[in-house]
Amino acid sequence: MPKTLIEPFRIKSVEPIRMTTRAEREQLLQAAHLNVFKLRADDVLIDWLTDSGTGAMSSRQWGAIMEGDESYAGARSYYRLEKVIQDITGMAHFIPTHQGRAAEKVLFTAVCKKGDLVPNNCHFDTTRGNLEYMGVEALDCVEAVGLQPATIAPFKGNIDLARVEEVLQKEGARIPFGMLTVTNNTGGGQPVSMANIRAYAALLKKYGKPFIMDVCRFAENAMFIKMRESGYENTPIPDIVREMFSYADGATMSAKKDGMVNIGGFIVLRSDEWLDEVRSDLIMMEGFPTYGGMAGRDLEALAVGLQEGMDEDYLRYRLRTAEYLGEKLDEAGVGFVRPTGGHAVYIDAKTVLPDMPVAHYPAWALCNALYLEGGIRGVEIGSVMFGKRLQDGTETYHSMELVRLAFPRRMYTQSHFDYAAEVIAEVKEQAASIRGVKITKQPKFLRHFTAEFDWV
Ligand SMILES: *Cc1c(COP(=O)(O)O)cnc(C)c1O
Repeated sequence: MPKTLIEPFRIKSVEPIRMTTRAEREQLLQAAHLNVFKLRADDVLIDWLTDSGTGAMSSRQWGAIMEGDESYAGARSYYRLEKVIQDITGMAHFIPTHQGRAAEKVLFTAVCKKGDLVPNNCHFDTTRGNLEYMGVEALDCVEAVGLQPATIAPFKGNIDLARVEEVLQKEGARIPFGMLTVTNNTGGGQPVSMANIRAYAALLKKYGKPFIMDVCRFAENAMFIKMRESGYENTPIPDIVREMFSYADGATMSAKKDGMVNIGGFIVLRSDEWLDEVRSDLIMMEGFPTYGGMAGRDLEALAVGLQEGMDEDYLRYRLRTAEYLGEKLDEAGVGFVRPTGGHAVYIDAKTVLPDMPVAHYPAWALCNALYLEGGIRGVEIGSVMFGKRLQDGTETYHSMELVRLAFPRRMYTQSHFDYAAEVIAEVKEQAASIRGVKITKQPKFLRHFTAEFDWV
């Protein structure tokens, strides 16, 4: 058997990449005030800012788009997708929304109240944001190993059951439900084991609490279970997925991830207990229950995408892609969060720029260097994103300085990854010449999106 794992698709429609020179990129980055968020996408060669809604749809999905029924109420496309989602999840009720954060907002508005507390392995930013906005405490309870970037373990997304039980005992009255994010995006795209899902569900049941999963990357998680958890080696992905869902009472999903579409999301619920409340909030915030926030054509594309996202050859290639880049980084002596997760590789900037003071934002500096050297756009997850400027002008810094390279689905080929590995290795070689940055202008919240910088 040849060893190369090929992309399990061929290309039918192409989108040109506009080539730029280093001199052009220097000007472009300067004009963007050294913030890659402010670049035009056309000026980026390899765009690994996010895997959310950025993937390529299949010819079957594009075909399905023409089948979209745009009726306001009771559209055929709704019923088609409902059937697919019921089959995949085993849940009775499907509520479409325009993306994941809207699913969260609709569900939380119906079920949570100020003063509540929701445990999770790690809340994603929008989940935390939606809860905190309502005055609900969003508590992260991932196992300790999930916070150690260099430690290799198969399921670093697992929730710490002892910790959750303690919280259930002490704060039970404040807890409307427990959550679990699969895979754990905030923790590096790390998977959760079936054993952990099962045990967490049992624990919540013991305390009479419903179990809601954030299932943005349920298919990638299922593939990790197949590859790493004993007893699942020969189980088909749809069966693993079905078992994962069987323990939950409901789920929120951003279809922009494993739904393989550019926009969309949904809630699923097993019982009808919250249904009336959820649907009336949906009508206020998103739209009529048979389209939520989506066009009929988007419902069709999602019905196909959810099935394609569970294809085993695709998933094997998908997870191997991140692992492959990880191996190349290892060869170049560049550190990263281990093992590589499903949708992204997180470079540890401190291994490339060990001498740069954190006050010069090494991960931001590395992000800029990747763009200048090779036109690659990643995202800093470090002290610009998570640090804070205090009243007296001093700053708090983040514990880690990471650059996340997140991979759009079915979009870049192996040669793009080989190229990226060369660029990263070259940047590491030239580390001594990489300059740090200082912030010249920043907003109060979420400063990384719009802040402006200059070289130190
Ligand atoms: C992307 C994401 C969301 C939010 O979804 P959007 O479609 O971006 O609103 C929620 N949870 C997780 C784990 C995600 O990755």
